[in-house]
Amino acid sequence: MDKEQERSTSGVEETPRQVFFFDIDNCLYPKSAKVHDLMAQLIDEYFAKHLSLPWDDAVRLHKEYYQNYGLAIEGLVRHHQIDPLEYNAKVDDALPLEDVIKPRPELKKLLADIDRSKVKLWLLTNAYINHARRVIRLLEVDEFFEGITYCDYSSVPLVCKPHPDMYAKAMEEAGVERNEDCLFVDDSYINCKKSQELGWTTAHLVEEGVPEPKTPASKYQIRHLEELRSTFPQFFKSEPEKSG
Ligand SMILES: [Mg+2]
Repeated sequence: MDKEQERSTSGVEETPRQVFFFDIDNCLYPKSAKVHDLMAQLIDEYFAKHLSLPWDDAVRLHKEYYQNYGLAIEGLVRHHQIDPLEYNAKVDDALPLEDVIKPRPELKKLLADIDRSKVKLWLLTNAYINHARRVIRLLEVDEFFEGITYCDYSSVPLVCKPHPDMYAKAMEEAGVERNEDCLFVDDSYINCKKSQELGWTTAHLVEEGVPEPKTPASKYQIRHLEELRSTFPQFFKSEPEKSG
């Protein structure tokens, strides 16, 4: 950990800014928004209909693919030649997000308090770009992020977290070369475990009410995004901006 590196550079960008990667779903908004449940329902329906499975088998297979691949669609593409874009239209794009995702003042405040001269904020999601953009727009946090790395459903084989290629893609797109210059927060155990292995400074978001893993996924584990302030104080403005 080269925390010593973090020093005031008086406006000269000699060392490249570190990059803080944020997951989107169940991370920028809480699990209590129940987007996950809505999505799970649509995915179960998709499995049942398109694979002609009895309901219980559809639910089980969905769960199996999610656990094995990090994304249900990964299993569908690998084993059933499903068109990911059609899946996306039927599942992600069909979610009634406007009803459940609202702007969150405390999230906006948190992001505004990060010193972006020290760290670049970048989104890293396994969703397709449509869904990601919708969520970010509904949360009204577009302005804080300089870019997004998403799972491109139009390009098979899919590249998604926790595959190392996805992290490499994110680094390339965000313009950062060294793993030690990357920070990451995600609610997924396997995603955090992998990023930690790769040498990213990782905070696993385990929301209150969610059981803590027996073995932590990563060096840091937080209960709320607000804890990023105390976990990484070096990236926050010393004098928080007053919100109006
Ligand atoms: Mg997530």
